[in-house]
Order: sequence, then structure tokens, then C-alpha cells
Amino acid sequence: MEINNFIKTIMENDLKEGKVDEIITRFPPEPNAYLHIGHARAIITNFELASAFNGYTNLRFDDTNPAKEGQEFVEGIITDLKWLGYTPKNVFYGSDYFEETYEKAILLIKKGLAYVDDLSQEEMSKMRGTLTTPGINSPYRNRSIEENLSLFAKMREGKYKDGEKTLRAKIDMAHPNMNMRDPAMYRIMHINHHRQGNKWCIFPMYDFAHPLQDSFEGITHSLCSLEYDNHRILYDWFIEHCEVKHVPHQYEFGRLNITNTIMSKRYIKQLVDAKKVSGYDDPRMPTLVGLRRRGFTPEAIKNFIVSTGLSRVNSTVESSQLEEALREDLKLKALRKHAIIHPLKLVIDNYPEGQVEYLDCPNNQENEELGNRKIAFSKYCYIEQEDFVETKPNKHWKRLAKDVEVRLMHAYYVKCNEVIKDEAGNIVEIHCTYDPETKSGSGFNGRKPNGNIHFVEATTAIKASFNLFEPLMLDETEENKDLDFMEKLNPNSLHTYEGFVEESFKNDAVGTHYQFIRNGYYILDKDSTASHLVFNRSCELKSSFKL
Ligand code: ATP
Ligand code: MG
Repeated sequence: MEINNFIKTIMENDLKEGKVDEIITRFPPEPNAYLHIGHARAIITNFELASAFNGYTNLRFDDTNPAKEGQEFVEGIITDLKWLGYTPKNVFYGSDYFEETYEKAILLIKKGLAYVDDLSQEEMSKMRGTLTTPGINSPYRNRSIEENLSLFAKMREGKYKDGEKTLRAKIDMAHPNMNMRDPAMYRIMHINHHRQGNKWCIFPMYDFAHPLQDSFEGITHSLCSLEYDNHRILYDWFIEHCEVKHVPHQYEFGRLNITNTIMSKRYIKQLVDAKKVSGYDDPRMPTLVGLRRRGFTPEAIKNFIVSTGLSRVNSTVESSQLEEALREDLKLKALRKHAIIHPLKLVIDNYPEGQVEYLDCPNNQENEELGNRKIAFSKYCYIEQEDFVETKPNKHWKRLAKDVEVRLMHAYYVKCNEVIKDEAGNIVEIHCTYDPETKSGSGFNGRKPNGNIHFVEATTAIKASFNLFEPLMLDETEENKDLDFMEKLNPNSLHTYEGFVEESFKNDAVGTHYQFIRNGYYILDKDSTASHLVFNRSCELKSSFKL
């Protein structure tokens, strides 16, 4: 995969100018939820750029905030990376550096660059000032080095309650960049850590821990999204004063947003916790597990991400662009098979009762490598309700109607003679006659049928549910723009229909991709049983079609 962007240029120059010998990057997720498609931008950027220069990428779990983290997410993230096709050189955990990080904090205290503060969180933020007014020094700012060392040791020993003391960097309370106004370095939290257990009750803040971790790992280019832009000065400050062996540099890129898509772990979590979706892997979710279950392929996701480019501006991309990437990828890969989503029974009066014949059918007309299969045909078939009207409305109607003849795809011409309705007047069954002379492949060209529609033979058909999706979020409009997130959920994001698929699906594996002829792209879902298959619609056949 060829990717070109401003970060690649920076790397090229750094190598050329001898600033670095190789390119080492890291992807640093916080294991507090499953990854979403936005993370794919960070993953692909880090892995593709490093490998373009024969460098490597570490996976580093940023697990320094134990309140929200857990092993389930660690494993989920490892699986997602593998699925995308990336193997990190090392898997590290931020928490594995707690001891070294603690040592660096002591170094800063000894240099008079960090102090223990007794102010509460609220007091601290009140005294931080604003963008236009300077902050106020804490009354504890001038504690002696000895006192700070002793207080910090006691913090570690668990002598204080949560929030009672904080270790802060001593920088400048009047600094124009608020992040430089004596930022917190360590906070007290008496809580079990998913890897460290109860070993620690003080935890380093991201801004202090992250640059150190980058340095310990020899990361050359520490890539992150744009919101860290005004933290870079602090990143560099910690690196400068911590006397590290290796100096990493931070570079920011724009975040990816997609229309009608929630791109924040916080909101994704809310949907799961409130049971608005079936889980992180609900096919409507923008998580990688959700997209996978929806039928997205790693290739489609990668091509999509690369097609969105990369710059120092946050970008919002139409969700149709993501679907287009999937269609492009599945076009030649997917098995093209027959499924009937809204069945209408078709009876062929002149076909022998009890007979089933099998007809040749290519698995993908555009890709011979996928081979052929046999599809059944008999007196009883299903067609789509929308492929039949009682009276042909006009000459543009290229499907079945009473007294009209069409080809059943890969089978015969059939002509409808009779329409059976229930008491309410709904069509329940149609009766046809077929012409044995017109068998597909026989070269028959005596007359032209009024269309070519697909069908599924009824006695061998397998029952199936079809899940069709709309965006989870409603379009952003003037009326709903101030509504709460939960109120902006689309109440109709899932439609399930009961229908049939042909017999040949019987041996297909969960996760098989299909193009259902004349309908859309689908994937076989894990909820399937032998007698009842479940399919998720991955995307429509064409982008213009609306449900
Ligand atoms: P969220 O805002 O959804 O909670 P996060 O940024 O807090 O996400 P992290 O686990 O910290 O999640 O993210 C790991 C990396 O992925 C970070 O470097 C972050 O910048 C990047 N990232 C997250 N979301 C996006 C996005 N939408 N576009 C590009 N990069 C992203
Ligand atoms: Mg984050």
C-alpha cells in the first residue's frame, strides 16, 4: 500500500539529515473500550509509515488510568490489530514503566521542578487562571526538596486518601499555554489495576507518562491526533528535564470523523451500557468489531483510510465513501448468490410434482476463479414480492406481471396466469407455466422475455433472517442539533426480514461475504443455526438506493 502524507515527508527528511537512524512508531490505545474506525487512521498511519522505511511499530497500552480499563479491551484491541493485518514488533503496557516513571518524578523533585500540592482538584483548577488571566501559585509550591521527597514517598506508600495530595510539575503559573501551569504529574487512586493489582496507589498522568514511555521505547516519531497539539510543549519540557537517553518527538494529525457516525469511545460505551445496541460488535457500531460483523473487510477499511488522506486538519468524510470502498473490495471477492428477502410463492403448474432439477450457475460472473455451483429448480419457487405486479404498469416494467413472461435467472421462462389473494386482497401466491424449450444455456432465442429475475427453489430453500441497517445517528439538522446524544439516535436503525436462501449456503462458513443478486452485499452472521441462517447487509449494491 502506497501512502503519502506530510508525516512521511518529515520522516524522509529526518532520515536524510541524520536526525534519526530508523523510524520507530507506536500505537497507544487506552484499553477502556473497543477500537473504532477513527483509531484505524492512527493504526494505519503508524504501521504503514514505519514499514515504508523498514522501521517498526509497537503496540503500547496506555493503561495508566485504571478506573476505566480492563483485560477484555486489551484482548479486543490485539485481535483488531491482527485482523487489520498488523503485527506490532512489541506489545508493551504503560503500567510496566511505573517504576522508571516514578524514578523520573523523583529526579524532577530533586531538581526543584516538581512539588507535592495539598490543594484539591477544584482549588487547583480555580487557581489555574484563564486564557486571558494568569494563574495563582499554590501556597504549597515552595516546599523544600526534602519535604517533597518525603511527601511523595508517603503518597506511594498509601498514607493519603484519593485526591488528598498531587504531584505537580513546577513550571509557570502565568504561562500563556494553560497546560504549562504546573500540570499534575501524579494523582492518588486507591484502586485495583488490571495488571498491577494493588502495587500502586499513585498513577502518572498521560502528559508525564507518555513522553517518557516514548523515550524508553526509542520511539522516533510519536504520532497523535490534533487535540494534543498544545500539549507538545509540555511533552518537550518533560523530555528536556528528565535526562532521558533517547529524545522522541511528537507530531499531530487531524482526527477522522464520518457523517452519522459516533467517533468517541465515551459515546460508544454509553450505547452499549444503555443496551441501545446488542454490544460492541453490533453491526451498526463504528467499532472495528462491529464493522467486521457488518461485513467490512480489512482491505476496504485500509483503502478507505488511505483515500481520506492525512493533514493537520480534522476531517469529516461521508459515510458513503466508506461503503464505496467496501463495494469496490467485495465486487470480485463476494459469492453472488440468490436470496429472497420478501418472499412471494410462485407455483409452476406444468412442472412435474416432486421433481427437482439442478442448473449451472457461476459464483461470480466477473471472476471465473470462484467457480460454479448448482441451483435447484422445481414446481415451487420464491421470488421477490417487488418483482411482481398484477398488471404491468408500463413498458418500463421489466419484471413479472399477469400474462407477462420473464426468465427465472439461470432457469426457464415463466409466464404468470393466475394470482391468488387472501381475504384482505393481498397477493399470497402466483401461478405460472414454464416453457421447457427456454432452458438457460440452451441457446433459445425465439422471443425476448420481459426481464430476468432471480428466484430460490422452495422445497430446498433454507430459512433466513436478513438484518438491514440505517445509520445509528439521525442526520444532524437545525431542529435536533441541541438534543442530547441519546435523543439523536435513529429509532429505525435495524430492520429484520424473514425470507429464504438457496440450498448452497448450507456449507458456508460464518463470515462469508456475498453479493445477493439484485439486492446488496451481505455477510453470514454468527447467530446462524443449521436450519436458520442470519445475514447482515454490509452495504447496498449502489450508493443511490435508499431503504
Ligand atoms: P476517543 O476520543 O474516541 O475516546 P481516544 O483518542 O481517547 O479516542 P485512545 O485510545 O487514546 O482513544 O486512542 C489511541 C490513538 O488513536 C490516539 O493516538 C488517538 O489520537 C488516535 N485516535 C483516536 N480517535 C481517532 C480519530 N477519530 N482519528 C484519528 N486518530 C484517532
Ligand atoms: Mg485518549
